[in-house]
Amino acid sequence: MTNFTATELLQKQAAGDLTAEAITTSFLARITQHDPHIHAFLAVTDPTEQARAVDAKRRRGDALGRLAGIPVAVKDVLCTRGQRTTCGSKILRDFVAPYDAHVITRLKEADAILIGKTNCDEFAMGSSTENSAYQVTRNPWDLERTPGGSSGGSAAAVAACFTPLALGSDTGGSIRQPASLCGIAGMKPSYGRVSRYGLIAYGSSLDQVGPFAHDVRDAALLLEVIAGHDPRDSTSVDLPVLQYAKVVDTPINQMTIGVPKEFFLPSPSGRGAGGEGAGLDAEVEKSVREALNIYESLGATIKEISLPHTPHAVAVYYLVATAEASSNLARYDGVHFGHRAAAFNGLIDMVKKSRGEGFGAEVKRRIMLGTYALSSGYIDAYYLKALKVRRLIRQDFDRAFADCDVIMGPTAPTAAFKIGEKTADPLAMYLSDIYTISANLAGIPGISIPCGFTKAGLPIGLQILGAPFTEEKLLRTARMYERETEWHQRRPVL
Ligand code: GLN
Repeated sequence: MTNFTATELLQKQAAGDLTAEAITTSFLARITQHDPHIHAFLAVTDPTEQARAVDAKRRRGDALGRLAGIPVAVKDVLCTRGQRTTCGSKILRDFVAPYDAHVITRLKEADAILIGKTNCDEFAMGSSTENSAYQVTRNPWDLERTPGGSSGGSAAAVAACFTPLALGSDTGGSIRQPASLCGIAGMKPSYGRVSRYGLIAYGSSLDQVGPFAHDVRDAALLLEVIAGHDPRDSTSVDLPVLQYAKVVDTPINQMTIGVPKEFFLPSPSGRGAGGEGAGLDAEVEKSVREALNIYESLGATIKEISLPHTPHAVAVYYLVATAEASSNLARYDGVHFGHRAAAFNGLIDMVKKSRGEGFGAEVKRRIMLGTYALSSGYIDAYYLKALKVRRLIRQDFDRAFADCDVIMGPTAPTAAFKIGEKTADPLAMYLSDIYTISANLAGIPGISIPCGFTKAGLPIGLQILGAPFTEEKLLRTARMYERETEWHQRRPVL
């Protein structure tokens, strides 16, 4: 039963073949059996009561929500009322959220079953979940490898069939990159499409919440439930949310797919600096090119394009994201939120010790980088310069979308890497998001879907990017490919 998609589980409940309680029990049993090897969850809730309530509603013939009886796991950066919300950080070890994030309220209104909080890199800073203060999540396809990050727990939970659906957050690739490495679908919506209310901030101008699922149909359904205007997030946009799940199976005729030549450049040093590529793995490139062939066979026109400012994206991101993070994380001062040092000498010492003890090495590195980029004397040279290049990156996309419906390329330069492989070299780790970061800088939507496997049996992801607020087109485009292939039906053997 745990292999099913959310759409299938909804159909089976409607047909009377399954109850929400039976579904919940099966997923919980699988988590109990296998999560000790995967470490996807930081907390598992027992939602049996919730499931029974859904079954009772169904028996009474009451109206049911769109996700009635469907388990959803939630990255531990989203506030859940009355439950610990840690951001994978020691500083929030005992923080119990006093309110629900907007997306959590939406899930509850949709009668979804909240099954637990998932592991992530501390404050979503990382690409492997190795920066979590609590545990390292393992890739269900190969336990020696990382599921990616920072939403690695959510991606691994779906891939391992611990839940059909999960939520993550994506600031520079944290939904799409782990989706790619775990062989599932993951989508970052346009900036403003989903409310950030109750999402603990990392880089506020970049962060978005989005869905993980086995396939695009399910991702469309989950996006539909969480998307839409919320007055509590002033950057959430008041646009109609389309019925993604309803239209997802309608293919797009005669579309033009832009393929950025910068995404396929060789990288002799493997560093991606100075206009070189990201060190794109040959097997990844082959699968992505084969996917493009499938689109061509479906009538699409493939067009080589250029996004000339792409080589600067990682540098710009690590100025903007760290600057925003240094400001956002100032609130963890030992007074308002989270950990306070046990012994200290006056206020300054209390703040210093609390932060020194509570934050991990990567978070400290970023606070220092961001503080430096914002400091007087350097702000013009670093932060303000980065904002100008950010605008140029956005203009590259505007120009590209004037002639293309979507842009395609790899999601990540390689398949899942080994645990420990990149921890000693932060720059190597930063480069695993080289293809995903520009979408956050530009505010555009992106989705990753499985498009093949390496010879070693590791999943490969195809990334599809769209113009702002074209989620519907992106989902329909992704689904066209999915209908022709069977990668999304594969499940790892645990
Ligand atoms: N890996 C990137 C970082 O460490 C992106 C993380 C994210 O999207 N949250 O910042």
